[in-house]
Amino acid sequence: MTKQFAVIGNPIEQSRSPELHHAFAAKTGVDLNYQKILTPLDGFESTAKDFFARNGVGINVTVPFKEQAFALCDQLTERARIAKAVNTLWMQDGKLHGDNTDGQGLVAAMQALGWHLDNSRILILGAGGATRGVIYPLAQAGAKQIVIANRTLARAEQLVEDLSAAVPQTELKATGLEQLSGEYDFVINATSASLTGDTLQLPESLIFHHAYEMAYGKPSSFLDQAQQRQVPATDGYGMLVGQAIEAFSIWNGVKPELKDFL
Ligand code: NDP
Repeated sequence: MTKQFAVIGNPIEQSRSPELHHAFAAKTGVDLNYQKILTPLDGFESTAKDFFARNGVGINVTVPFKEQAFALCDQLTERARIAKAVNTLWMQDGKLHGDNTDGQGLVAAMQALGWHLDNSRILILGAGGATRGVIYPLAQAGAKQIVIANRTLARAEQLVEDLSAAVPQTELKATGLEQLSGEYDFVINATSASLTGDTLQLPESLIFHHAYEMAYGKPSSFLDQAQQRQVPATDGYGMLVGQAIEAFSIWNGVKPELKDFL
């Protein structure tokens, strides 16, 4: 029987998830149908419950419902509990399970580029939901130090306070976006500046050796500056594919190879 999946969001038209999951299914021989569901801002819970009541197997959750999905779950993975956000849902033994695969998607994408995270120093720009989701997986992958730089310093400080205990092997620090300096193996842009067309100005005193832009399909002043400095740099498409592969593997018990879909 064809297994039914969906991604729920608002807006949802831009989602690439159906094409990715259908491509994974074609490669692995899984029989599935994966649809996009647009739901009103107050309609997430009823839409998700209705989908599972009609024997849906799994749901991906995107903006702005990841926190609501987290609150609905009966069982959470460790990384979802720490992220306080869920992007992957499934039913098991009558209980709603939730995971957050975004961070592992980023880690897998960086590793697929041959970027070594073990013992690394990482600067993350931005302190929103995406940053919260990637800190634990980056720490698990061996990051020695993670500095979170945010326009609103208090938000970065709050993240450090919330997450330090979960990543005891990693030094976690907060700073303002204005005070950037020092040397890092990786800089990750997890601000939404590229989405709004805003410019991020990286000072000369900031040295970095690799640049990862989480956004994709948009011009990025962050990527432009990385390219001017001739450091290896990429947009967030690999992270998107990586999180989808993780979800597919949870649901279907078979893991497509990231390199086949980049
Ligand atoms: P949030 O809205 O939760 O957070 C946005 C962050 O960007 C905040 O820290 C905010 O700072 C900062 N910011 C916004 N505008 C500017 C600006 N002009 N200058 C400096 N800082 C700015 O967004 P998310 O964390 O959910 O998403 C962040 C990015 O990650 C987006 O580009 C999103 O598309 C991408 N993403 C990509 C994924 C992928 O699979 N590739 C998955 C998830 C996210 P402040 O706190 O001061 O407002």
